Amino acid sequence: MNILKHLCVAILTPMALMSCLAAAAKTRTVALTFDDLPVAATKGPAETQKLPAEAQSVNRALLDALKKHHASAIGFVNEKTVEELGSDNGKRILEQWVREGFDLGNHTFSHADLNNITLEQFKQEVVTGEDSILSILAEVGKTPRFLRFPFNHTGDTKEKHDFAAAFLKQRGYEVAACTIDSEDYLFNATYIQMLAKKDDSAAFKLRAAYLAYTAVEIEYYASLHQKIFGREIPQVMLLHANRLNADVIDKILVIFEKKQYRFVSLEAAQSDPAYRVPDTFVTKFGLMWGYRWAKELDIKVDGSLESEPPAWIAQYGKEPAKR
Ligand SMILES: [Zn+2]
Repeated sequence: MNILKHLCVAILTPMALMSCLAAAAKTRTVALTFDDLPVAATKGPAETQKLPAEAQSVNRALLDALKKHHASAIGFVNEKTVEELGSDNGKRILEQWVREGFDLGNHTFSHADLNNITLEQFKQEVVTGEDSILSILAEVGKTPRFLRFPFNHTGDTKEKHDFAAAFLKQRGYEVAACTIDSEDYLFNATYIQMLAKKDDSAAFKLRAAYLAYTAVEIEYYASLHQKIFGREIPQVMLLHANRLNADVIDKILVIFEKKQYRFVSLEAAQSDPAYRVPDTFVTKFGLMWGYRWAKELDIKVDGSLESEPPAWIAQYGKEPAKR
């Protein structure tokens, strides 16, 4: 970008310079990823979230918006939820993804936390997590290529981290990274309560706050990568297949488009050299990859500069603090 800017300045008029820089900005790309397929559920008045009709409605809204915006996407599947929906209902949703041109990956059988399970249990989680996606992807001549760790917990000890990485590689998986997190699960947990109470004005306010926070996070992580790599890199957006995203996905895609992002596959995003930075960092936290790369490359970044969701989101429906 800097070299391009110098070239532009050297040879172009101001008007042409603007369009030259705008063209450069258009090289921004993002891969969209949706976790917890067929449907993510939160605790609380959430039992309806795992009803087949609701799961179907959430996925229909996501897929319709993705198609409208010509965006590719990958969904990461928890096989246990496929079974909880009644196997045919769960599989029908996954089949829609694949038949409509989208990809599926493994998110383990039960979303078990690698921090709390043994290596043998992890292996089982990965293998049984393949039950539906293997046959559904086979319909279009594919096999699962990516696995996303539940909670992005990649191994809280060196032994676990290295074993999990080696096991996944041997089984033909690439770890699905993610570089932008908009804490959609947190917003969604409150949103579900608002919908249950039919608190429409609060739900309206929450949707607006969620979209504003998403826009802030996209730019925050773009600047984090700029600091680490001296350039923007293809981003990987972490979202969940939940009611909130179903209701606002069109607007999220518009935010990316207004920021000059082009939608690409996860495979394309992760073909960037940034994703070849060695993966040796051991943490019990589910950090976005920018923070992991900064550690690997020994570049100091200040995570406290990252914004938090508005406090009222988590406070909704709780007793006011006692004075
Ligand atoms: Zn998940």
